[in-house]
Amino acid sequence: MTLKLVSRSQWGARAYRTPNGATPYGRARRGVKLHYLGTPYSDRAHDKCDDYVRQIQAQHMDGNGWSDIGYSFVVCTHGYVYEGRGLKRRNSANGNTSLNDQDYAVLLLVGSSGLTKPTDAQLDGARDAIEYCRKSGPAGTWIGGHRDGYATSCPGDAVYAWAKAGAPRPKTAAPSKPAPEEDNMPSAKEIAAAVMEYQIDDPRTTGTKYVPVKSVLWWAGADSAQANAKVESLEKQVKHLTELVNRLLAANTQG
Ligand SMILES: [Zn+2]
Ligand SMILES: [Zn+2]
Repeated sequence: MTLKLVSRSQWGARAYRTPNGATPYGRARRGVKLHYLGTPYSDRAHDKCDDYVRQIQAQHMDGNGWSDIGYSFVVCTHGYVYEGRGLKRRNSANGNTSLNDQDYAVLLLVGSSGLTKPTDAQLDGARDAIEYCRKSGPAGTWIGGHRDGYATSCPGDAVYAWAKAGAPRPKTAAPSKPAPEEDNMPSAKEIAAAVMEYQIDDPRTTGTKYVPVKSVLWWAGADSAQANAKVESLEKQVKHLTELVNRLLAANTQG
């Protein structure tokens, strides 16, 4: 997956307050801590997601009195990654200054009721965010939840279990076996017809004279005395027929 990053200007972020909102990290990040909303949340159309992220920012700035949205990034159920404090400015979501300095804080828009399990697109987006933090932060490979080292139920059991499993990409459904390419496959009837038309050295004559199998079979049935006399010649021809059938069958199974 490629990171679907939504910049602050794209989601209509308010300017953060300085100087606190501009505080850089004081140490290398160990990794990424995941969060959830901890409130009821229902899924919504993607064009409503930026409204929701702005609402979180307003709560944090106006309700909590913080200098900006607390999270480093926010991942919606559609897999988009909203830039919060980003890679360079210290987040304020992990519980205290030391914890904030230790790990990035990535919120998944998942509730404590309603939508309580992240969507596959969201897990992909969260994985994209984690990889972005690692590569461009940089951050180490540690992955956990808000509850690690802090008394909270965040990020909820579903997101936490995913974090502790190493935040794997969701398994995409196995692609259904492609339908056989009927057009390229000879049917049994076509194989039989091809065999009947196959030209073989006429066992009834000396020298070489090619005739279709069907006429030899007809003749063999009509005059078994003569056929028996030429069995050896027929057997050679059967080898060729076998090869032909094998080739047709191979084409059949290869599709
Ligand atoms: Zn949290
Ligand atoms: Zn969305």
